[in-house]
Amino acid sequence: MRPEEGSAVGEYVKLLNQKKREWAETLEDRKTVLDHSIKLTYELLIKGLRSGAYKNIVILTGAGISVSAGIPDFRSPECGIYSKLKEYNLPQPEDVFTLDYFKQHPEAFYRFSKEFNKASGYEATPTHYFIRLLQEKNLLRINMTQNIDNLEEKAGINADLFCQAHGSYNAAHCCKCDKIMDLDAFKQHVNEGTIYRCSDEVCLGPVKPTVVFFGEQLNPDFDIKLPLVHSADLLLVIGTSLAVQPFNLLPFLVDEQTHSVLINLESTKKASGGSIHDFESGDANLFIQGKCDDVIRQIIADCGWEAEFEKILPEVHKKRGASRQEAEGLGAGKAQDQ
Ligand SMILES: [Zn+2]
Repeated sequence: MRPEEGSAVGEYVKLLNQKKREWAETLEDRKTVLDHSIKLTYELLIKGLRSGAYKNIVILTGAGISVSAGIPDFRSPECGIYSKLKEYNLPQPEDVFTLDYFKQHPEAFYRFSKEFNKASGYEATPTHYFIRLLQEKNLLRINMTQNIDNLEEKAGINADLFCQAHGSYNAAHCCKCDKIMDLDAFKQHVNEGTIYRCSDEVCLGPVKPTVVFFGEQLNPDFDIKLPLVHSADLLLVIGTSLAVQPFNLLPFLVDEQTHSVLINLESTKKASGGSIHDFESGDANLFIQGKCDDVIRQIIADCGWEAEFEKILPEVHKKRGASRQEAEGLGAGKAQDQ
């Protein structure tokens, strides 16, 4: 609808011209950012995020983004959970996540679940809320995660915009006949330290959550969402050294020219021996070393997104952010494990 004649028109034209200038700048930024002959730098990444040049951001995440929530990186032998499983005399610690062992001795995994789920009251981290912010801005294509802690959902990321490749504690089934079983009953058994068994009296197989065990097929959702990774114009890999297959092959799904950024305490080189995506060389790659939340907060500040971020961030992080800054000001900042 056209505006009425009179002074309102002048205002309207002024607004329109301003918008046109903004759009032209955005277009220019998009051209610069996506000119693949230019080496990707942190400054260019920020320019691309700020200007909206990246429109299909794909994010791959791992345990490193949940560490600050207090959730243990359970694949790491140092996380403390394995030491609590000593009484079960596991042939190898990893056996707790193998189906054959579970069918015979489900007790160890139930104990693991009890320890792991102590974390269920934890809040998603600032890094999770950054992913949510990209969702609000319509820039998030997909977040593929190796984590089973469900913090994506807690941060308000839509179910169709994330994929828990290694499953979750969101559903439970019999490990022998696949019968769907009651999730709350499973959780209750875990808490009480008893084994929940299939309701089929002939089967009586132990019930397991949809957490993916070694050798099991990944979450079927993974295959469905995999093609979305290919459409990335920016790949952000956060809080993972990409040590676990087949998840660590995902960066190879994007074009070589696609800007690919690793935000992690350590390079993937160390973990892979050079057999996976190298973020430290090549014009389209960038490695930003540091704690996920710190790097993400810096990116948000440099993009000028702090006000929007604060709006979706829960109170607990605002306080924690403040006290952390105080602690660091006193030189009490302590390095944390990835
Ligand atoms: Zn069964």
